[in-house]
Amino acid sequence: MLRVNEIFHSIQGESTFAGWPCAFIRLTWCNLRCDYCDTVYAYEEGRDMSIDEIIDTVNGYNVRLAEITGGEPLVQDQTPELARRLLQESYKVLVETSGSLDIGVLPDECVRIVDFKTPSCGMAGKNMWRNVDFLTDNDEVKFVVRTRGDYDWAKERIAEHGLLDICPISVSPVFGELSNKTLAEWILSDSLQVRLNLQIHKYIWEPSTRGV
Ligand code: SF4
Repeated sequence: MLRVNEIFHSIQGESTFAGWPCAFIRLTWCNLRCDYCDTVYAYEEGRDMSIDEIIDTVNGYNVRLAEITGGEPLVQDQTPELARRLLQESYKVLVETSGSLDIGVLPDECVRIVDFKTPSCGMAGKNMWRNVDFLTDNDEVKFVVRTRGDYDWAKERIAEHGLLDICPISVSPVFGELSNKTLAEWILSDSLQVRLNLQIHKYIWEPSTRGV
């Protein structure tokens, strides 16, 4: 059984898969408390579902892309099995994780989207940098940036860990706090070879809308 906050069907708003129809499985609980968290409701709310029930729900959406997210999906020890079952059902499987827990438990066929935490959220000390050893060119790394300090810190971590040689890197502004234009100008000014990651679901629907 897994504790599930919500399952829904929407447009993928982030990552190199942005724009594609996607089934989202949002799991309950998180081991972190980021200052800018936009899914606080996933900390506790949820109901128990079997993997079969989750797969049945996802199959009802008639999509080929599925994302396991949270909260922090790796808090629950059945998450790798859920990922395996979705892969067996021929889904392209994305797993969005904070990088504070061991991503090596996930099947290699998943796209692991590792959202290493930047200093302004207060959780950067929780990053498990040895997760970099598990990354392949099938995975993605994301940094969410609120300040120039976050951006400079992310640049340093990208260089320190050689991340540009491993997988696509996205840098995303905290919605409503750092302008897209400012972040775009920083990236261009530095010729930093990263992807500006906008949460496009927040432009399609009202930013606070749940289940999109
Ligand atoms: S890791 Fe994600 S879900 Fe957990 S507190 Fe941070 S932003 Fe929120």
